[in-house]
Amino acid sequence: MNGKVHGSAGICLSGYLLVQYPPDSFVVATASIVGGAFFALLCDIDHRRSSLSLQPGMNILSKFISVLFKHRGFTHSLFAVALIFFYLRYSHFKPIIIWTWVGTFLSHIILDMFNEEGVQLFWPLPYRIALLPNLLSVSSQPYSIIQNILFIVFQTLGTIFCLHALFTLCLQVGELKFLGDIWYHFIVPYLTLILGGI
Ligand SMILES: [Zn+2]
Repeated sequence: MNGKVHGSAGICLSGYLLVQYPPDSFVVATASIVGGAFFALLCDIDHRRSSLSLQPGMNILSKFISVLFKHRGFTHSLFAVALIFFYLRYSHFKPIIIWTWVGTFLSHIILDMFNEEGVQLFWPLPYRIALLPNLLSVSSQPYSIIQNILFIVFQTLGTIFCLHALFTLCLQVGELKFLGDIWYHFIVPYLTLILGGI
């Protein structure tokens, strides 16, 4: 999958978790969404030309990691997921932040398992895990229609989930309460009709 799909999937998953487990502040909500997008792209730091690796500052880290590990190896493994989880857990981050960041990191690995190359899920074991046979696998090339459809779906749902979480927070702030009221009175009823409830 390409960076657009991973990033939008990360925002979509973060937004969904924020709707299910409402945060207590805008700082936590923003950290979950922005961090979610970052962690959804972080796995590909092992590839010199990934969207995150091309960003200033990240290219040095990418150069270092891509020399040490093969693409879709260590950074796409359950071992890396566990490392991030325990680091965040013992750094005393709030539970919602831990679950959005770890969840979006894991979402990248799961999406890449639909690619023909698969991922080294049980690194350091050398076996690559792919969920689909070659003919049905999803290409990482920009022209892939499935990737473009996934991007549109994740982007649309992600926007709705994140807005819902943020406007729900507005209800708790006196000056911003009217924004939450507008959202719940004029938008949510239509979204509920379309999505079957959020
Ligand atoms: Zn990847």
